[in-house]
Amino acid sequence: MTKATDSTSQTLAALGVASADAVTARFAALRAEFDGDAGGEGAWKALHDSWMGRKSGVLTRVTENWLKTATPALRPAVGKCLNELRGHVEQRLAELQRAAESAADEAALARERVDLSLPGVTRPLGSRHLLRQTFAEIERIFLSLGFAVVEGPEIETPYYNFEALNIPEHHPARDTMDTFYLETPRQNSGGPARLLRTHTSPMQIHTMEKQPAPVRIIVPGKVYRRDNPDATHSYMFHQVEGLAVDTDITFCEFKGTVEYFVREFLGPKIRTRLRPSYFPFTEPSVEVDASCFVCGGSGCRLCKSSGWIELFGAGMVDPAVYGFVNYDAKRLSGYAFGLGVDRLSQLKYGIEDMQLFFQNDVRFLRQFP
Ligand SMILES: [Zn+2]
Repeated sequence: MTKATDSTSQTLAALGVASADAVTARFAALRAEFDGDAGGEGAWKALHDSWMGRKSGVLTRVTENWLKTATPALRPAVGKCLNELRGHVEQRLAELQRAAESAADEAALARERVDLSLPGVTRPLGSRHLLRQTFAEIERIFLSLGFAVVEGPEIETPYYNFEALNIPEHHPARDTMDTFYLETPRQNSGGPARLLRTHTSPMQIHTMEKQPAPVRIIVPGKVYRRDNPDATHSYMFHQVEGLAVDTDITFCEFKGTVEYFVREFLGPKIRTRLRPSYFPFTEPSVEVDASCFVCGGSGCRLCKSSGWIELFGAGMVDPAVYGFVNYDAKRLSGYAFGLGVDRLSQLKYGIEDMQLFFQNDVRFLRQFP
């Protein structure tokens, strides 16, 4: 069966069309064929080209072959039918184009739609390092007792790190605090040597040089010693030095302060014990022990069956130290202590290896949010 559009490449005369009715019938066939093609989905562009194409579209062929060659008698009928058909084709193609475009828009919208019910992107929040948490806890306790927090330089001179703390050159106590000396331009031009401080105690001297008594300070910070790394040693670790100097400070106040700190830090049931010890800048000096918070004093692996755990060193300030800062040793007295923040963190949180603090392993750090 030949298609109606195929006939548009011939003239009406060749097709044997001789009446207005026959013209109308030919256009009706074309329209029916167009409507049949336009019934399907999509492809409006191909339909547009085959019917409206300038060079060989069906309507162009009808104009060239049917209208222009029509006899004067048929020409009005051909022209009228052609205008009707053109109007019909244009309107229908415009509808198809709109439908195709809105379908494409909807598909694009569906692709790009944001699903608000999906879970959002979770950015993990960091937390304070366990050592920072311990610093904060120690500071909280001593601030509540009226102490002030001061910080100082990590690079010191031997005078502040040793001599003014009653540790003269060649004193055996220096052997236990071997540290790192720095080569600096100032030293090469005859200035004092520089070293990384072995304790935060130099800030005792700096503070007393700057202000008269009373003094109540704690000094949190990093300190350095030439220790090989193991479960309880590191070349860099953390201390909180404490110093209280006033006109009427007794050993009782010292003991009460230490006991208060230990109870606040480790818990209300913890008992405290003082053992005689030696530090060059305190006299008398003590080691502060706490009753074992694991076994309660009956003996376990942590306390090595002794029931007691060594916490930190402390003592009454040696009067010799006052001489270095022009304090009146006859009128003033005081106490000092040095808390090992790493050690206290290990004890409180049951961490066997100190190196974990410095390895930045998030699996470890996450346990202390
Ligand atoms: Zn124990």
